[in-house]
Amino acid sequence: MDSDSRKTSGCGYPVVVKDAMETIIMSGNIFDEILTLKSLFINKEVLRHSYLPNTMIHREEEIESLSFNLVEALKGHIPSNMILYGVTGAGKTAVTKYVCKQLQEKGEKIDRKVFPVLVNCRQIDTQYRVLSHLGNTLLEEFEAPDIPFTGWPTDRVFKELVKRMERRGGVYVIILDEIDHLIKKAGDDLLYNLTNLNSELNDARACVIGISNDLKFTDYLDPRVRSRLGQQDIIFNPYNAEQLQEILHDRAVEGIEGNALSQDVIPLCSALAAQEHGDARCALDLLRVSTEKAEKESSELVEKRHVRAAQAQIECDQITPVIRTLPTQQKIVLAAVMINENNGLKNIQTGEVFYIYKQACARVGQSLLSARRVSGLISNLDMLGLITANTVSKGRYGRSKQINSCLPDNLDVKTIMANSESVIADVFAHSYKHQSRL
Ligand code: ADP
Ligand code: MG
Repeated sequence: MDSDSRKTSGCGYPVVVKDAMETIIMSGNIFDEILTLKSLFINKEVLRHSYLPNTMIHREEEIESLSFNLVEALKGHIPSNMILYGVTGAGKTAVTKYVCKQLQEKGEKIDRKVFPVLVNCRQIDTQYRVLSHLGNTLLEEFEAPDIPFTGWPTDRVFKELVKRMERRGGVYVIILDEIDHLIKKAGDDLLYNLTNLNSELNDARACVIGISNDLKFTDYLDPRVRSRLGQQDIIFNPYNAEQLQEILHDRAVEGIEGNALSQDVIPLCSALAAQEHGDARCALDLLRVSTEKAEKESSELVEKRHVRAAQAQIECDQITPVIRTLPTQQKIVLAAVMINENNGLKNIQTGEVFYIYKQACARVGQSLLSARRVSGLISNLDMLGLITANTVSKGRYGRSKQINSCLPDNLDVKTIMANSESVIADVFAHSYKHQSRL
């Protein structure tokens, strides 16, 4: 293998460590040297979303509302059902876990049976699976068998769950995280049944806490379920840049070597994440990935340029799979927008997209959708954040869309689409007639 082919072998090793890698590849186990490279992390896990910090700053009010309600469980009473809302990365899951951990610890200490159970409804996303998961979580060693993964009628699973709760007694705090996901997919039967649990229970008690990233998710609920669930709502507002700085600072103290961050790194990560929508996840990702970037370069200092590189990588990592998995027709429409732009156009109109789309379909033998359907596909691309399609008034000529792509500069969208489907490679290979603008 010559050095050039090694450089492009896809291992992703940056050029700076290339020399070291060449020696290693020739002389021994490829992990020897990497293991000896000095790490800028004390503990990378601290910077992951799943890490639960010992203190949660800037969420005192939310913690208080939750704990004032859940303290009822420690008294053997039924806490109110609750809905927690807020954008992604607002700390809903972390705050809930933090409060529940303390609730459980207190329960054990004062010998009260309190059982918080958290279910992530993005992963466990049907009524059957949530009920069987709850039932199996409560399974004691002598209570074989497990509720099967599928196959029982739902009401049998529900009865089994009630039986197990009764046998154990105590107060159950059932937390349905990312509930909006399940409701949109499977309707509100689960919530209807779970908020009705207390009428089936004699010895045990239960309350339900729904956590949603979508503020409007209650629109999907039957009014009866809505009123039973939303006895108490808590809204988690997005963090501002200063709050994110403090959150990151605390994590950095635990997770990253002292002096490894140049002064402007945390402020920049926080400002970028605050722009995004006050998302603490995004801020943590930026800090972790920029430190990884500095580390791979064998740099002892994480600098602003590493944050910029991290931002670009994260953006690409998120958008690439979205582009790759677009349906074929959707890809052709996006290609038509790009072909117009390559021709120097800005504020492209639906008609101009359709004009290219029509030629492309004919050239590559794809069925042709109506202009209305294509207009729908344009709106979809807008929703996915790949283009902007703003409706503007044209006075007495009615309204029209102004379409512009908003793909990251450093992402080779044409190649991603072409590699994912040969039809799209053909679309880009042709030349097109363009509509003339008046
Ligand atoms: P959400 O559930 O609202 O999407 P998370 O609770 O998952 O957000 O929070 C995302 C990440 O940010 C987690 O790693 C969490 O520990 C961290 N985080 C959020 N809010 C805080 C806070 N107030 N203090 C410390 N860490 C926080
Ligand atoms: Mg969450």
